[in-house]
Amino acid sequence: MTSGAPPGRRDQRWRGAREVLAAIRREPGITRAALARRAGLSTGSAAEIVARLRALALVREGPAPVVGRGRPTTVLAAHPGGPLVLVLDLRHEDWRMALCGLDGRLQPLASERHRRRAPRAVLSAIGAAVARARARWPGRVRAVSVAVSGTVQGGRIVQAASLGWGVVDLRPLVGATPLPLLAGNDATLAGVAEARAGAARGFRSALHLTVEVGLGGILVVGGDPIGGATGAGGEFGHMPLGDPRRRCPCGARGCWDVEVDGRALARHLGERPPSNARTYGREVLARAAREPAALRAVEATGRVLGAGTAGLVNALDPEVVTLGGLAASMLEVAPRAFSAAYLGGLMSFRRAAPPEVRRAAFPEDGALRGAAEVGLDAVLAEPQLDGWARERTLGARPAP
Ligand SMILES: [Zn+2]
Repeated sequence: MTSGAPPGRRDQRWRGAREVLAAIRREPGITRAALARRAGLSTGSAAEIVARLRALALVREGPAPVVGRGRPTTVLAAHPGGPLVLVLDLRHEDWRMALCGLDGRLQPLASERHRRRAPRAVLSAIGAAVARARARWPGRVRAVSVAVSGTVQGGRIVQAASLGWGVVDLRPLVGATPLPLLAGNDATLAGVAEARAGAARGFRSALHLTVEVGLGGILVVGGDPIGGATGAGGEFGHMPLGDPRRRCPCGARGCWDVEVDGRALARHLGERPPSNARTYGREVLARAAREPAALRAVEATGRVLGAGTAGLVNALDPEVVTLGGLAASMLEVAPRAFSAAYLGGLMSFRRAAPPEVRRAAFPEDGALRGAAEVGLDAVLAEPQLDGWARERTLGARPAP
């Protein structure tokens, strides 16, 4: 594990270690015995790897609660002095920041409504919070991972209609010091969280759709988002499934996006276009329980959502569909309208066993959880682990 080991041997040693770290990430508090079984390691190898990871402040080992008369074992968790990821969710009205360790658990750190929505003002507020966190945990923040309610390409926002932003470089968030900066669309990252740990866990191929202001989503295969050539894929809301006379803030006409959210609900109800489509949409969904006109509006958007979902299932062939945000609430409030349109839009060969449509497991913090997932992927990559190990080794003895 030292940087002096030959590359092949070093890789092999990290491989066992990375399996141990992955198991702790999936199951914090796993016993060492269970971990050895999961990772296919002998008891001796597991003990040796865990000892090395403890010495590198990556893993903490403690006694397991005694159950029955079995042999005593130990439980493993993320080391309290280990690497950290700063996770951010940048939404159209606010931003929030959380901290996560190698076990992926989120600890809320800060949140703030945008006082001014200009990119420079928003990035400067977030950048200051990032700098404070790095000063508080010196050397331990190893990546910053940002979920954005907008289209992200190569680590920068290229279009964020709900924020009123065009191209915005996110690198100022990490300042001058080099630190991995990961950025992704919020619906994409929520889909990653659902596939890895939420309602689509255990399925190889999952389609996630979420409605907040407009509609976003992603196809996730084997835990990874299928983001296309530049990572900007999954903009399902901008397929022309709507009224071709209606212009979408994205610049295109007839987008599905504006037919399924609070803006569509307002049109169906004959009410003014909402200034905050997300909050307004939630209000209408709550009103639907006691107000027939609101229920009819939700049923109308539920049908449009169901039909578009069927089109995506025909095109992408997922094993399961998860719905987040307002889409999950529409499924709950107007299940028959959604299902009739969904099943009616499927090709006949799919109807015998259509992919199940489920509510997302993380309706509120899916984007943050997904950002944590990709942030940890980066921190647990071999070059990053090498860097962490080198700093610990150099800290213990003088550099040659
Ligand atoms: Zn559009």
